[in-house]
Amino acid sequence: MCGIVGYIGTRQEAAPLLLEGLTRLEHRGYDSAGVAVMSARGVRVAKRAGRVRDLQDALPKRFAGKAGIGHTRWATHGPATDANAHPHADTKGDVAVVHNGIIDNAAALRAELVDAGVTLASDTDTEVIAHLVGRSEADTLEGKVAEALARLDGTYGLAVLHADFPDRLVVARNGSPLIVGVGDKEMHVASDLAALVRYTTTVAHLEDGEIATITAAGFTTYRADLTHTSRTAAHIDVDLAAYDVDSRDGHMLREMHEQPAAAERVLRGRLVERFGTAHLGGLNMDVRETRAIQRVKILGCGSAYYVGQMGASLIEELARIPADAEAASEFRYRDPVIEPDTLYVAVSQSGETIDTLLAVQEIRRKGGRVIGLVNVVGSAIAREVDGGVYLHAGPEVAVASTKALTTMFLGFSLLALQLGRVRYLSVADGKRMVAGLQALPEQIEQVLALSDELVEVAEQLAAAQSLFFVGRVRGFPVAREGAQKFKEITYRHAEAYQTSELKHGPLALISPAVPTVAVVPHDELTDRNVGALHEIAARGGPLVVVTHAEVDLGDVPCRRIDVPRSERELDPILLTLPLQLLAFHAATHLGLDVDKPRNLAKSVTVE
Ligand code: GLU
Repeated sequence: MCGIVGYIGTRQEAAPLLLEGLTRLEHRGYDSAGVAVMSARGVRVAKRAGRVRDLQDALPKRFAGKAGIGHTRWATHGPATDANAHPHADTKGDVAVVHNGIIDNAAALRAELVDAGVTLASDTDTEVIAHLVGRSEADTLEGKVAEALARLDGTYGLAVLHADFPDRLVVARNGSPLIVGVGDKEMHVASDLAALVRYTTTVAHLEDGEIATITAAGFTTYRADLTHTSRTAAHIDVDLAAYDVDSRDGHMLREMHEQPAAAERVLRGRLVERFGTAHLGGLNMDVRETRAIQRVKILGCGSAYYVGQMGASLIEELARIPADAEAASEFRYRDPVIEPDTLYVAVSQSGETIDTLLAVQEIRRKGGRVIGLVNVVGSAIAREVDGGVYLHAGPEVAVASTKALTTMFLGFSLLALQLGRVRYLSVADGKRMVAGLQALPEQIEQVLALSDELVEVAEQLAAAQSLFFVGRVRGFPVAREGAQKFKEITYRHAEAYQTSELKHGPLALISPAVPTVAVVPHDELTDRNVGALHEIAARGGPLVVVTHAEVDLGDVPCRRIDVPRSERELDPILLTLPLQLLAFHAATHLGLDVDKPRNLAKSVTVE
């Protein structure tokens, strides 16, 4: 979601570099783009609603300058229009600001500026920052920015250009990532490593509350009161190829097929066959601390929340520790009771999901212990938690999560196994789980091989305006995730329900026009599930059943999709995969852009 880039140097033109950087951030989801450069005659801005490509086409022929800032916006305040796109300027046009995040007191500040005679040019919260900087009487740009920031409540990553200080950019961070990249007589700024790893791998991550001055020669960091924080840059190891994602067939399709490899990576070196356990080095907990855990609370948003529910059942089943998952976006707002013997687990692909990050901060403020299940190394959540498990899924670009979700499930399996083995789980059962996990990459491959066979049934589902996804107990989060994926990329109304609850209400909606996708594993509930299928079929509801070959569906009219069986506790992930494929093929059939679904962004960095 929303991105920032910045460049200052002596040899290269800023604009092409900024546009290139913005292109690298496109996958995060955005609705408008813009750039500003420091030209010989002051600050110049070009911006518009739409794609970076549109901006590039609209850029004036001469748009020279060796310093500049750029932005992709994901609108929170005001629609996606040219005027609301960033950079925003002050009245004189001396200042340009790009901003990620939300200024909570923007309405009051806008009113104050209007009272002072300022004409506002946009509906955004961001514009006030440009005016506050422009109106500051401080002598230095750092001073002006610090003065403006002192007036803001809310979150920001931001970058500022000012015509009176052409040798520098000033950037700041509070809740939205900001990274400084050090080059040779040139410097880069970005909200995401993806935008700058091609130019430099010597980087510094600003902390919340920090401000930095960037010149072609280097950077200096400050606290809000402009005392120095002496942050230095460090070399990071990155696999550049991993950032060069091939998009020929689309990201989601490629990422789905990367799942066997991603599964292998998340398991690698973490299974201890001999003792039937897992070893997660990053948890930073000794055996006694692990034993002392009385409860596990999992926090995530969207698919990470649903996979968190799968994780909670894994932990309850294998470790017999009470566990549940909650939407991180709600958790923080109900003044949660934080218990010292609860292990909190924050789940996020990007490690930037603001709702999850804020939940982590709330827990830590109250003295709780949090670990992270995060894909992006060095991300905000990864740096904020007491310990964690990196998912090693590789960069995930498509908005609809597939391989990251699969590695989250495996991360939970490892955690549950480790927690279980210091409690009641026997060596024999531990070994059974280890063997089950080791077989998963191959089984994932087998499910993905069903892809072509599912095209036709996906097309039938795509014809419906409204669908149910049902499952129970272990199968319910699978149904929730399946419905989520389907609605995200097909824009069809897909509702998840517990199969057991159908007759308590939603059965009223079942008709030949409303198909149901049912998750029916071979487990202790198979008979109950098959009973519910009969009830749906009796009301003319078309059925697609994701199940195991061992399950006897009797004479229920349905299209069945058999997946290989794993250990019962691990079955959910294999049952989830066909639902990804169904959503993908349905959306493709409808001619939709599966990688960039409308209204959504990859990393949700605003509340
Ligand atoms: N709140 C700002 C706006 O609506 C910035 C949104 C973003 O992070 O892109 O313009």
